[in-house]
Amino acid sequence: MRILFCSVVITFFSLGLLISSALAEDVETYEVGTSHLNVRSSPSHSAPIIGELQKGDQIRGFEENAFGWVKTYFGGEEAWVASQYLSKQSNTIATKGQEQLVTIVDNDVRVRTGPSTDHGIIHQVSKNSTYPMVNQANDWVEVRLDDGSTGWIAMWLTDMNRESATAPVEEQPKNITSLNGYNIVIDPGHGGEDPGAIGLNNVFEKDITMNMANAVAQKLRDAGATVIMTRDNDYYVSLEKRTQISRDYNTHVFISLHYNAHPAHNIGGIETHYSTGESSYALAKKVQAELVSSTSMRGRGIQQSGFHVIRENNVPSILVELGFITNPNELAYIQTQDYQNHVANGIVEGIRHYFAQ
Ligand SMILES: [Zn+2]
Repeated sequence: MRILFCSVVITFFSLGLLISSALAEDVETYEVGTSHLNVRSSPSHSAPIIGELQKGDQIRGFEENAFGWVKTYFGGEEAWVASQYLSKQSNTIATKGQEQLVTIVDNDVRVRTGPSTDHGIIHQVSKNSTYPMVNQANDWVEVRLDDGSTGWIAMWLTDMNRESATAPVEEQPKNITSLNGYNIVIDPGHGGEDPGAIGLNNVFEKDITMNMANAVAQKLRDAGATVIMTRDNDYYVSLEKRTQISRDYNTHVFISLHYNAHPAHNIGGIETHYSTGESSYALAKKVQAELVSSTSMRGRGIQQSGFHVIRENNVPSILVELGFITNPNELAYIQTQDYQNHVANGIVEGIRHYFAQ
């Protein structure tokens, strides 16, 4: 508890705010006592469901409100669970042996099997998530993850890094205003005989990827970039051809646009995929962060995947899944001009930040 409290204090000092006694909130561990418990985005039974817990799952509760809801974090986002289905675990679990808690201070931090970047990646954790520390070596910290396994995280990506705790929160990107001289391939997913995912109201993924690609290409051109499209209308282009186009030009960045689908209509959010390489990973990180902030959509993080168009590419390449066309709320938003603008701005900003680092 003390460690968490200290980091909160440091954060507030750095913001130049006064500390109030209200900060001394307790983190409690709760166990789920029902077979099926919804996780909601706000403390109300009518709030959107963003996840589900099962009997025996443990959560960390950061606050309990007067109406029977416990605040926790789910996939790095604030989430609420009805407290009537939870039982408070004795505090010895959360604080056993003066257990230190480590808070993640960067987006999509990688967890490795050992204390250096030479070790394999086993997990990814979200900003503001908190884990008990079990070990420490050089500048690395070993933590226990929610599933009980352990892994190593670079200390400079946690609140154990005192210097970063007092430094300004956001690094200032270099001042790049123009994408002049950069060749960017935009790949509208699917097309022709391949409709991609089919959403509610018979919306075809191939149609909305094409519309979005046009909007993104326009914003990129406005920013000075040269844009190459893998298709410019509703026809079939093989995956091999798409990567060939990327190879044929002096491409600096390749971005494939897609939308997601899921049988459960409440599943939603934006995610970004990369295949291999530090530069694709860095690009994914920047674009995902900008997409989530510009659209205010739920962030599903970045994922390492073997999709052909990013796996067989020889330049920094990512595939973005711009929301679920099976989620009625998201589909309504996805089909607006506003959404196209927000996504296009997010991609342009993400690319700018990537080139500026
Ligand atoms: Zn797709």
